[in-house]
Formats: sequence, structure tokens, C-alpha cells
Amino acid sequence: MKLLIVGGVAGGASAAARARRLSEDAEIILFERGPDVSFANCGLPYYVGGDIADRGKLLVTTPERLRSRFRLDVRTQSSVEAIDRTGKKIRARDLVSGRSYDESYDKLILAPGAAPLRPPIPGVELPGIHTLRNLQDVDRIKERVDAGVRQVVVVGAGFIGLELVENFVKRGIATTVVELQGQVLPPFDREMTTPIVETLLAQGVTVILGESADAFEPDPDGLVVRLKSGRRLPAQLVILGVGVRPENRLAVEAGLEVGPRGGIRVNEFLETSDPDIFAVGDAIEVRDFVSGDPTQVPLAGPANRQGRIAADNIFGRPMKYRGTQGTAIVGVFDRTAAMTGASEKALRRTKRPFRKIYIHPAHHAGYYPGAEQMTLKLLFDPTTGRVLGAQAVGGAGVDKRIDVLAVAIQAKMTVFDLEEMELAYAPQYGSAKDPINMAGFVAS
Ligand SMILES: Cc1cc2nc3c(=O)[nH]c(=O)nc-3n(C[C@H](O)[C@H](O)[C@H](O)COP(=O)(O)OP(=O)(O)OC[C@H]3O[C@@H](n4cnc5c(N)ncnc54)[C@H](O)[C@@H]3O)c2cc1C
Repeated sequence: MKLLIVGGVAGGASAAARARRLSEDAEIILFERGPDVSFANCGLPYYVGGDIADRGKLLVTTPERLRSRFRLDVRTQSSVEAIDRTGKKIRARDLVSGRSYDESYDKLILAPGAAPLRPPIPGVELPGIHTLRNLQDVDRIKERVDAGVRQVVVVGAGFIGLELVENFVKRGIATTVVELQGQVLPPFDREMTTPIVETLLAQGVTVILGESADAFEPDPDGLVVRLKSGRRLPAQLVILGVGVRPENRLAVEAGLEVGPRGGIRVNEFLETSDPDIFAVGDAIEVRDFVSGDPTQVPLAGPANRQGRIAADNIFGRPMKYRGTQGTAIVGVFDRTAAMTGASEKALRRTKRPFRKIYIHPAHHAGYYPGAEQMTLKLLFDPTTGRVLGAQAVGGAGVDKRIDVLAVAIQAKMTVFDLEEMELAYAPQYGSAKDPINMAGFVAS
């Protein structure tokens, strides 16, 4: 078996390691366009702020370690330029020497990820306007910050945008966040994000909602971000955090099916429309676990699991991908917001009947010092009681409750099951009636 993998980070590196565990003999070649494999994208904002001080810690593993530990043929700075499906070979280019060459395959896994969007706003190519995806991007951003930026504008109040906002504030920079929608963290229901906005304001962040950047203009002091309303925001650094687009060029040019939003189409075994080509990670269209509809969810957990599943299927261990729930969490200063499954707005969009409840419990026994209040929203089917989605915002303990509810959703549990859940309790950890039980009681 000769397996080629395009993309050497979350999905690609997981697929490669799993493939080697399943076969000692397979020839496995991993192509990565950048200089690094398996780096910690999710840690990048914290390197800017200084919580992660050592850049080396962002390298989860290195090409050398993958070579020595897994006997993988790792080719960094090597871009796969085309797929010849009839001849079952790819065309690769060594970006250092410029040499192009063909490599044949028995099976191919595409794990090229998704690229940050750079909307065609006038002036978007000016120096000082950055996106964040990899170590080279973070180096450029950090270099500017270290050089003494005074004002930053972050366009887009999604997960990465807000993580960067926090880290800019930690560096003492006056930070403004501009978001097109009328709320921060657009995947959440709006009312759940109010405490996050309050926290941002309390930290001195300027939050501008329902507004878009219309143009970027050069200025003697750096840049000016001109908003649709005409408001002008001076900045020496601008971050665009307005979403990502699947890197589907190779797949499209090879005639593989892609969905309407550009995600590479795969079946439940993660096979593309060509049975010798699999695809995983941010580049693919997945099934929404709750609605069953096709969607795109760029998250690290799904990408890692899909890489593993694709390798399992290639090496004779048939495995189905169950779909993506969109379980996600973000820390914004001392607040945590997390969600899993469907949001209320997604349920309304698809006209699925639902009921909802809110509770405001303490994360552990109220009599024990340090109890922190959270708000937990539960969405469930009005007939069967099946849990459809959950969101929580607060401090400590939000992560644990959303993880429990993520399991409940995957196991297709009902609110009646939540009443019965037996969860670990001592006063410093939870309550004899845990917030999960309470949600079940109220919903029931
Ligand atoms: C700043 C940041 C913070 C994040 N934080 C979180 C988080 O906290 N939690 C979470 O769940 N997710 C987070 N994510 C998202 C998560 O990192 C992605 O979902 C995950 O990395 C996707 O994995 P992937 O393998 O599909 O793509 P990537 O990790 O993007 O890897 C794809 C790789 O393929 C390479 N490539 C593309 N085309 C080619 C080609 N033709 N030839 C060779 N190589 C190619 C690219 O250079 C890239 O390195 C974050 C992302 C960023 C950028």
C-alpha cells in the first residue's frame, strides 16, 4: 500500500500516525506546503499574549520526530499541485528547489484545511492587515506587537477574533472589535453572549456590533479602518477573523464533488466521489449530527478523529464518521462560553420544533467558597425530550457541563436521562443536584 497525504497538521498528521499503527509496511508520504507539521493552531493567540512564551511549545511534533518514531516520509515545503485520478498519481513541487515531480498512489488522503477569508474590501492588501492560520502568520503579528503597536482593530468577533482580542489587551494594546452581526460569537444564541460583551467592555475593549469594515486606508500613523457607518478607526495592526474557506482547489480541479459552500463531499467513510481518495478536516462537508444536513465545521477535534477514521477505512477497519456536533468552547478573559449541538437559531432556521429552558446554577455547592454562577441553556425535542443542543456561559465548570451534554447528545439521550445522571460530587466540584440534573428536572 502506498498512501499519500496532503496536509500535515491536524487531520493529515493524525491520518499518517494512525496509518503507521495499522501497517508496518505501508509506504506513507506526508506532503506539507509549510515548514512545520502538526503545530498547535489553537495555541497561536496565546503566543501573541505571552501565556505561551516558548514558540517551540507550539510544535506538537516535528518532521524529524514523525520520521524517526513513525517511519513516515515527511516532505515539508512541498506543495501538491494536481491530482491525476486516471494515472493515480499526484504532481508535487518542492518549494525550496522549485523541482516538480510525480508520485503515484494506491490511496490518497486530502487534509488541506481551510484558509482564512480575505474579503475584497478596498485596501485589504495594505501592510498591517493580517490573518492568522499558522506559525508564519503569528510570527508576523507578534513581531508587530513587539515593535510597539498602540491600537488594534479585530474584524470579526468569532472564536479566533475574541481570543486575539484578549491577548492584545494583555499586551496593553487599545483594542476594538468590529462584528457584522448584532452579537459576538455568531454560532451562539445572542442572549448567551451578553456576559461576554460585558466582560469585553469591562476590560476596556471597544465592541462595535452590526457594523462592517468598508475600506482600509493608509495613514501616517499606520492605517484607518473605515466602517460602513462612516466611523473611522485608527490602527497600526488589523486582524481579519471573518471565517475560513475550504482549500478545495486540488479536489475541484480533479473533478471531485464539492458542496455548495465549497466543502469536499465525502460519504460516512470519508471517501470522496473517487473511492481511492479520502478527505478530512476543515476542507470537507460533514453531516450535522443533530439535523443530518450537510454543513462545514472547522474544528480540531473532528479533524483529528476524521484523520484517524480515514486511515482505519484504508487499512481494512471499516469505520463510519458519525457527523459533527459543533462542540466548541472559548475563553474570553475570566468568562467561558461553550456550546454543543443545535443552537436555537439553527433550529428555527430548519423549522424543527423545540423547547428551551434556562437555569443559572452555581458550578459547585453554594456553601463552599468560590462558587461561580453560570447560565445554561438547554434545547430539546418537545415530544421525545431528546436533547438537541446546549450552551453555557460563566466561569469554572462550564466546560464540564457542556462536555457531559455533548455526550448526551451523541448518545441521543433525553431530558429524562439528564434527571437520572449520576455525576461526581463533592462540594468543591459540583452539587448533589448537579446543573445537568437541574436542567433535566426543569426541562422534564
Ligand atoms: C488561531 C486558531 C485557533 C484555533 N483554535 C481552535 C480551538 O481552540 N479549538 C478547535 O477545535 N479548533 C481551533 N482551531 C481550528 C483548528 O485548528 C482546525 O479546525 C484544524 O487545524 C483543522 O485541521 P486540518 O488538518 O483540516 O487543517 P490544517 O490544520 O489547516 O492543516 C492543513 C494543512 O494542509 C496544508 N496544505 C494545504 N494545501 C496543501 C497542498 N496542496 N499541498 C501541501 N500541503 C497543503 C496547509 O499548509 C496546512 O498546514 C483554530 C484555528 C486557528 C487558525
